Amino acid sequence: MTTKLLPMLYCNSLTEYSRYKTREVKAGDLGIGGSNPIRIQSMTTTDTMNTAATVEQSIRMIEAGCELVRITAPSMNEAKNLKNIKDELLKRGYKIPLCADIHFTPNAAEAAARIVEKVRVNPGNYADKKKFEHIEYTDAAYDSELNRIRDRFIPLIKICKEYGTAMRIGTNHGSLSDRILSRYGDTPLGMVESAMEFLRICESENYFSIVLSMKSSNPQVMVQAYRMLIMKMQEEGMNYPLHLGVTEAGEGEDGRIKSAVGIGTLLEDGIGDTIRVSLTEEPELEIPVAKNLAERYSRRAELQKAIPEVTGLQFAVYNPNENSAKPETVNRKRYSPYEYTRRNTHEVLNIGGHNVPRVISDFSDRDTISPAALFPAGYNYSVALDKWNLSDQACDYIFTGDKMLDFEIPGTLGVLVKYKTWKTNSGRERHYPLFTVKEFLDAEKRSTELNFISMDCQAELASASVFIQTLKQVQDDKNIVLIFETGNEHGMAEQRRAFIELLQNQINIPVVVKRNYQNISEEQLQLHSSTDIGALLIDGFGDGIWIEQNQKPEIRNHQRRVSLKADQKFVNALSFGILQATRTRISKTEYISCPSCGRTLFDLQETTAKIRSRTDHLKGIKIGIMGCIVNGPGEMADADYGYVGTGVGKITLYKGKEIVQRNIDSEKAVDALIDLIRLHGDWVEKENSIEV
Ligand code: SF4
Repeated sequence: MTTKLLPMLYCNSLTEYSRYKTREVKAGDLGIGGSNPIRIQSMTTTDTMNTAATVEQSIRMIEAGCELVRITAPSMNEAKNLKNIKDELLKRGYKIPLCADIHFTPNAAEAAARIVEKVRVNPGNYADKKKFEHIEYTDAAYDSELNRIRDRFIPLIKICKEYGTAMRIGTNHGSLSDRILSRYGDTPLGMVESAMEFLRICESENYFSIVLSMKSSNPQVMVQAYRMLIMKMQEEGMNYPLHLGVTEAGEGEDGRIKSAVGIGTLLEDGIGDTIRVSLTEEPELEIPVAKNLAERYSRRAELQKAIPEVTGLQFAVYNPNENSAKPETVNRKRYSPYEYTRRNTHEVLNIGGHNVPRVISDFSDRDTISPAALFPAGYNYSVALDKWNLSDQACDYIFTGDKMLDFEIPGTLGVLVKYKTWKTNSGRERHYPLFTVKEFLDAEKRSTELNFISMDCQAELASASVFIQTLKQVQDDKNIVLIFETGNEHGMAEQRRAFIELLQNQINIPVVVKRNYQNISEEQLQLHSSTDIGALLIDGFGDGIWIEQNQKPEIRNHQRRVSLKADQKFVNALSFGILQATRTRISKTEYISCPSCGRTLFDLQETTAKIRSRTDHLKGIKIGIMGCIVNGPGEMADADYGYVGTGVGKITLYKGKEIVQRNIDSEKAVDALIDLIRLHGDWVEKENSIEV
């Protein structure tokens, strides 16, 4: 079999922001893709048979800025009731496209396609029932399966063509069919092939009103799948619009961070025509988050500063003709956008090598730093016991500017101090100098253990050869850590460009990614830093992170004078949240909770809060909390334990993908979940902190 390599790039440019051009698809009057703005959408959580509640909720979503409302249609009854919902919305003056969400029920899809502007089908379950079976398919058996799907799917295509209805082929990582799993595995490539099979059937019927999505609750998998999908579409001459989303992202800060990491990473490269942020909250609360993510790119092209192009770049590529479950890597030292490969670095103290990425917390704006001041960074000093207690999210280093600490610091903490101050106090334990490049090259005194060198990526890349020459000069000193900074509006790409330069020249010095944000709200800080830093971590870049925030002390907001500066605790938790979402450092329990929809069988928000309050100390455990048995088990993907609604007041518990207790009374289900965690040896009693 001849090896055919795909085109080299999954986006227009790795350095210059521009929207990746797709064809325009119309859902009613709403254009998606082409030169339309990034569209904002969400999904109702009400019972679809409750017309009044669904209409009211849709109106709240529309008023918040939602441009397309998705409503679940699990059976014919709900599909037919979409007509009442649509009529009532029109009567009340809301002419907005509706999308029916379909799983397992082709007849409901066919009914809905005659009523609403768009239908979403999941290729993992449209014509397949999931049995979690591994079957070895011969080519002939595989083709006959495809023919069976074709026969089942073509009637829907014909109706969509006749009624001018658009379709989303929405693949979910957690609900791939047994057939795809058997051939491609539970991989981004499997997700891509799952959509392509349906897409090819649509094209063979001359139906092109299609939007595609590749969702996963793991942002790494999601990003890789979209990138691969674009490569595959390019190869087959296709350019369908892309709907971006991270499934089951959860609630509150975790849900926002995870969504920003996944969606933002792709938006940074100009990918994405419509987005949905899935939070376990009221759907109208998803809209400001989605708008915040999308609006950042409305002026990116004009505000960005030029970044030198990458020359001679080698990618890890995959060979689509080999049907391999994993992309083939040309050279692991090269940039690898389709699989996670952490950049190879040497270890300096506890940074780089196999160490988890480190967190640096900024204390430079404090007039004085006392032991009590370290509390928001995860260190609690007990005067009575003369002991430090560490939380799971205790930072690793603090930057103090020109201040040396005059008390005994916790054994796990290091202090970065500006070089000039360090130079005259260099005997102080675990205080390390922060140099500019020039200071470092001219320095008469350096730390024998750890030296940080701050580099402005734009200045350094202006002469990449000098940049590399400088680093080659110092790379044998195994006590240097670089800090990459950027002032570019398109800063992620600039920092990535600098990382690629290190990769290409095989310079293995560890690097901390630093971003500085000026005068933005707490929510913007959360979303922007998750995007900017998360996008690099997902590509395996970064041995530490440092978020700095410079805020005017007070600004006028709705007639009130308020300080918008996020507090230290918030920024510290945000740093650990980004590492958790990118799965590069696990410091807390992970909840994969579905956003709920008309199928949901219990109050997801209340139940998630209840489970969280009992289990949020179980570092590293993943708990899936899913509203229904139809999609829940598949979509909770790689959760260690699952809590799934199976009937009114009934819960089924899972260990991994195995059912362990069926239909427990919901009153007793949280206790039963905890017993299950205990039984498998994953339970620890709650303690507030670790003593050092
Ligand atoms: S898992 Fe949750 S969001 Fe998905 S279909 Fe079931 S109830 Fe709806």
